[in-house]
Amino acid sequence: MLVYALPGTFETREDHLDLLWEAGATGLEERAGLIRAYFDTEVDLPAQIRDGQWQNEADQDWLAAFKANLRPVRAGRVTIVPPWLRTEVESGQLPLVIEPGMAFGTGHHATTRMAVEALGNLDLQGKRVLDVGTGSGVLAIAAALLGAAQAAGVDIDPITIPIARENAQENGVPEGRTVFVEGTLGDELPEQAGDEEFDVLVANLYAELHDLLAAEYVAHLRPGGPLVLTGILTSKLGMVQDALNREGFSGIQVREDGEWVLVTASA
Ligand code: SAM
Repeated sequence: MLVYALPGTFETREDHLDLLWEAGATGLEERAGLIRAYFDTEVDLPAQIRDGQWQNEADQDWLAAFKANLRPVRAGRVTIVPPWLRTEVESGQLPLVIEPGMAFGTGHHATTRMAVEALGNLDLQGKRVLDVGTGSGVLAIAAALLGAAQAAGVDIDPITIPIARENAQENGVPEGRTVFVEGTLGDELPEQAGDEEFDVLVANLYAELHDLLAAEYVAHLRPGGPLVLTGILTSKLGMVQDALNREGFSGIQVREDGEWVLVTASA
């Protein structure tokens, strides 16, 4: 088993965790002042994370080790937890159970956290919510748990759809309150997601894609409907602001967490 051991913790090196994932890490854990990143082969790493060491270690069940290090993640009035930590959710917090797996969205990324928190700040009672790039389904499921009448999650990656459905089930979301379909915004939204306007649209993608999809966001939001966008690096915020101004969005607000930004606006 190949491990790249980097001095620091998830907290002190939060900004560098993405670099490890982008370099091909298959798992990360924190142990005794080190971040341990699992790799299949040695790779060239960016300068910011070259202060670690490659180590060949005897095989162990890394998945079990990774799982053992997961902690609940608080996102406003919601706490995101893996199933085995459900009982650790503080009273008064809304538990959102996500099984860590192949799809992005366990809550351990700042963008997911900020998006869940932003959804918790909206009045979603009886609303229809569209989640573009649903991954694990975390944002659509959060919306349903926060009172949305229906939350539709779409993703271009087919692997995410059964995962999101299972996560919705794990959270006891009634059948039909969430619907997950393979696809994206474009010529037409997949029919099962409902082709009318939505009351709220949330998307954790990346700046270039928000720029490309901004006109679609208008087309799928009722006038005045809140838009919640994240996955945006601070360095690319201007691109998203320009796109939203171009498409006539108003009330643009920005929240930062490390190198990541969340933008809210109204259609
Ligand atoms: N919504 C989850 C969260 O907030 O943690 C997952 C977000 S993850 C950063 C982005 C997801 O968007 C991935 O699952 C990816 O497959 C999907 N995706 C990428 N491009 C897309 C597109 N053009 N349309 C729909 N989904 C897309």
